Amino acid sequence: MSDVFQFMKLSRNPGDKVEASVRKIEFKEIYQPLNAVDAADQAGRCLSCGNPYCEWKCPVHNYIPDWLKLVEEGRLFEAAELSHQTNSLPEICGRVCPQDRLCEGACTLNQGGFGAVSIGSIEKYITDEAFKAGWRPDMSKVVWTDKTVGIIGAGPAGLACADVLVRNGVKAVVYDRYEEIGGLLTFGIPEFKLEKDIVRRRREILEGMGVEFVLNTEVGKDISFDKLMSKHDAVFMGMGAYNAMRGGFPGEDSKGVLQALAYLINNVRQSMGTLPEGGVPISMKGKRVLVLGGGDTAMDCNRTAIRQGAKRVICAYRRDEDNMPGSRREVSNAREEGVEFLWNRQPISIEPMIGGTLAVRLAATRLGDPDAKGRRNAEIVPGSEEIVECEHVIMAFGFQVEAAQWADKQGISVAADGRTLAASHGVHKYQTSNPKVFAGGDMVRGADLVVRAVFEGREAAEGVLGYLGVW
Ligand code: FAD
Ligand code: SF4
Repeated sequence: MSDVFQFMKLSRNPGDKVEASVRKIEFKEIYQPLNAVDAADQAGRCLSCGNPYCEWKCPVHNYIPDWLKLVEEGRLFEAAELSHQTNSLPEICGRVCPQDRLCEGACTLNQGGFGAVSIGSIEKYITDEAFKAGWRPDMSKVVWTDKTVGIIGAGPAGLACADVLVRNGVKAVVYDRYEEIGGLLTFGIPEFKLEKDIVRRRREILEGMGVEFVLNTEVGKDISFDKLMSKHDAVFMGMGAYNAMRGGFPGEDSKGVLQALAYLINNVRQSMGTLPEGGVPISMKGKRVLVLGGGDTAMDCNRTAIRQGAKRVICAYRRDEDNMPGSRREVSNAREEGVEFLWNRQPISIEPMIGGTLAVRLAATRLGDPDAKGRRNAEIVPGSEEIVECEHVIMAFGFQVEAAQWADKQGISVAADGRTLAASHGVHKYQTSNPKVFAGGDMVRGADLVVRAVFEGREAAEGVLGYLGVW
């Protein structure tokens, strides 16, 4: 039995972080894995609170104190089994969740200033090590039905839905327009947060469980939605949010101005060797780069540009550091790697100059009254303009959902902002207004987090199972 005062004797340990000077020249994960001893020691810091706030704050409601106990006792396979009961992608969430705002932010140890149990690193440890030791999801008791479900989108929502369906004997066929699975896990989140081998390994695991992937296949172009409806007993849509929001100021279409996701996808395809024929590799080597935005996407662009050898990377955001939407951890990592921040700045215009340089006019802002969501609006300070010169501007203002092109024809209701309407607490969870069609993830919630997409994919799968009469 562990020492009840372990949380005082051992400090929080999320795994060593690679030195900034080393990591800023490589596209590799920056946190080193915990070894078995450190994972057990760290797990032993858990107070086993009677009412664990970490579980409630975790969007998939992981059984955190229970699997921490199993790790402490060295019962790795049982921990992996338990962790997979609530999360379809635990090794991925362990890497990319903003734990400071979720599970770890709610850890009781924060209150005494002892530092939260490093829950994310342990979650990653459990699955990574269990897979290495040969553990696989146990499918031996699955009784296969004759039902099949077509899933559009191999992002976290689609993968989580497929995981729950096959575990319940329903064949899941996942269609994606890209050449690899993962959605934004592969074509968005860079390798320094999530190496692509982790996603490929999850693909092998899911295929081993009976999930079929039909890649390089865009529904609505390479195969019709009608065809999917006739082939399958139900359809789940997890197509994400890909409409890049615009700045609405002059010059944003100038040469040298890039959209964040196009830039990140280009970079990942360079390293995967899958740039399409005629595709030009984009590099920031030797360039001055201005990234506009304050979310996770902006941080990923900042840090990608640094790794590509940019001469200088500045990130400008219209609110202050306390009111930015991105994870604090990622801002701090970016800063350590050499990114400079200009808080309270709003772009006014971009003007191309002779020689290919861009002159970006920024105005200072101050925070006004809070909006409906409680976030304080940024107001421009008159007469505060300044000019930043650079070779490239990367626009990272977030994403909106584009309604599926077949929504109208199929009787699928869509909100005014493009999000597909699917009720989390309907008769069948996440069913749309077309009873045979379910939806979840970013296309229902709007651009959000991996773990919330996983939750909705899993919940929707339960809705589908009810609809098909399997449950
Ligand atoms: P997606 O991951 O977008 O997957 C949708 C899939 O549907 C894609 O593969 C797409 O190709 C496919 N698709 C769309 N239309 C069709 C069609 N017609 N036919 C076939 N396939 C189709 N979240 C975090 O929790 N932590 C992070 O650190 C983080 N970093 C991020 C960094 C960036 C740059 C971005 C853009 C997002 C980040 N997010 C992060 C958010 C997170 O990635 C998303 O919330 C999550 O991936 C949403 O999952 P999804 O399955 O709903 O959609
Ligand atoms: Fe924390 Fe995310 Fe894991 Fe939940 S899924 S325990 S929020 S890291």
